[in-house]
Amino acid sequence: MSNAPPYQNPIEDLGRTAARFSKQLLVKHARIPGVRILVRHDRCNGCGSCVRKGFCRVGAISVVDRKAKVDEKTCRGCTRCTHLCPKDALAMEIRPPAPVRLALKRLDQGLTGVLGDRR
Ligand code: SF4
Ligand code: SF4
Repeated sequence: MSNAPPYQNPIEDLGRTAARFSKQLLVKHARIPGVRILVRHDRCNGCGSCVRKGFCRVGAISVVDRKAKVDEKTCRGCTRCTHLCPKDALAMEIRPPAPVRLALKRLDQGLTGVLGDRR
């Protein structure tokens, strides 16, 4: 029986490291494209539960002048907060990314050209 250390494939090691790194990146930066959180000012009473109780796991919500505020750069669009606000003051808005909006606009223009006034 050989006493040599077990063979470690460097490519496999590299693959594992890359997978771990990408997972960390994904966890840190992943966001749902096109989803935005709107604060309904008429419903938000500034109770601060969203901040105190940690509705947002990435700390995107703050309360300024007795109204909740969502930092769009930090928000991941997970929509968790929208289910937790007792006043239903946080709402999800879906705004497709620019390339999708452009494609939809072109499709609409194309349909208008083909169908004319029949639509
Ligand atoms: S968003 Fe909801 S939980 Fe947060 S301060 Fe307004 S009412 Fe309170
Ligand atoms: S949608 Fe998710 S990430 Fe964005 S503010 Fe709400 S809980 Fe935080």
